[in-house]
Amino acid sequence: MNSKLDIIEKEVSVCEKCELHKTRNKIVFGKGSHKPDVVFVGEAPGADEDLAGLPFIGRGGRLLDTWLLKYSLTLENIYIMNAIKCRPPKNRDPLLEEKRSCRDYFERQIDLLKPKVICALGKHGFSNLIKMDSKEAFGKMRKQVHYYQGIPVVATYHPAYILRSPSSEVMVFEDFDLLIEVLRNNL
Ligand code: SF4
Repeated sequence: MNSKLDIIEKEVSVCEKCELHKTRNKIVFGKGSHKPDVVFVGEAPGADEDLAGLPFIGRGGRLLDTWLLKYSLTLENIYIMNAIKCRPPKNRDPLLEEKRSCRDYFERQIDLLKPKVICALGKHGFSNLIKMDSKEAFGKMRKQVHYYQGIPVVATYHPAYILRSPSSEVMVFEDFDLLIEVLRNNL
């Protein structure tokens, strides 16, 4: 175990820095290797995650699992986390002040994990890593390599979006192709 990560998780477990602590069941910190090649960053926990305290375990998580399997990525070489550690009520978008309140944990977590590449899942996961004009379409962030603290970042759609729009899954595979290419160049 990485004791510094454990210390942050303990801090998060009692955090009351924003209103989301009032409605959460469990904090959702992250899962996977503590020395990952790839870190996947989603937006915020959903209902299943809030109950279990683990990220990406509902229908969206099962879809993400199929993508990981297709690209031979496992929890032994990746880490999965969200930008926000507590579930927003009714899965609404996180508010700016909630993102700001939670940012310190997110930054320290990535700093310790030191991945070779980051995959941002969806607009909110991405905008926590890379400053993005809110008027810009998230789709335009794809097919290019961004950088967070010198770490390459590739953007793709959140599994929850693909569940609503299955025909877009082909674009996720294009993004994973880029992700694997960037990873190979950084190994
Ligand atoms: S969302 Fe983040 S800042 Fe807000 S209470 Fe949860 S851990 Fe604390």
